[in-house]
Amino acid sequence: MSRQVGSLPVHEGRMLYTTRVDPHLTSGAEVVIDVVKTALQRLEVYRRLDLTLRYLHHVLLPSQSLFVRAAFDECVRLYSANKASWLGDLIHSLRHLPMPMILPPTGLTPTVIDNVRKDLQQSMAQSLAASISGSNKLVLLQYRVERNNEGRLIFRANPQGEHVMVKNPKHRIALIRLLFSSHPLVIEHLEWAERRRQPIHHHLRLCRLCQLEVENEVHAVLTCTSHEPIVIARTRFLSQLPSLGTGIPTRSPPS
Ligand SMILES: [Zn+2]
Repeated sequence: MSRQVGSLPVHEGRMLYTTRVDPHLTSGAEVVIDVVKTALQRLEVYRRLDLTLRYLHHVLLPSQSLFVRAAFDECVRLYSANKASWLGDLIHSLRHLPMPMILPPTGLTPTVIDNVRKDLQQSMAQSLAASISGSNKLVLLQYRVERNNEGRLIFRANPQGEHVMVKNPKHRIALIRLLFSSHPLVIEHLEWAERRRQPIHHHLRLCRLCQLEVENEVHAVLTCTSHEPIVIARTRFLSQLPSLGTGIPTRSPPS
């Protein structure tokens, strides 16, 4: 697509994804619940389960004319009799998420489902945070903090995307590649085997400029002092930070 329309702005790209791709990935989520363990480990399952819960919320709304409500009541009876049922699949899926959740089989109301959907968002955020902190890459995301409404610096796994809102497409793509380890730095480049070369061990992927430390994102951007133009640009950039607002934390970069 980029060959035909150029770089797509984030907002428009998200709209296209939501309208043209997401429907294929979530088709039937209300009826067919993912119960396979491998599917439940994927991040997409949160979107599908949220749609399922939204549908259950609709089913539980007061309306005597809904035949589907009668079918759901039958599901509850099947579950209480230890038989296979749609409700049982939903409880099983929520219980086997990376961050498990409990859905009570009885006493379900639209309010209860609203709260479960909020808990699902929390579970997704916790799962995302665990994936980021457990990664041997993504070091810039692991140390990333932002201010909450009270002004305290916190880690948030799903930031509101200020980095994806960078207007200049080249800058935006470069920043996202740096954050997500899709860059030409040695730490990434030498991890992969090439023709006539095996992967290089982590501690041997040294900086091409100073040969003193591993050339990772932090070293290249924040700490290497061997290339004067980079040092000058970094010093100039850091001197501008205080004027960019109180949202910029005044703390040392991770070593
Ligand atoms: Zn260096």
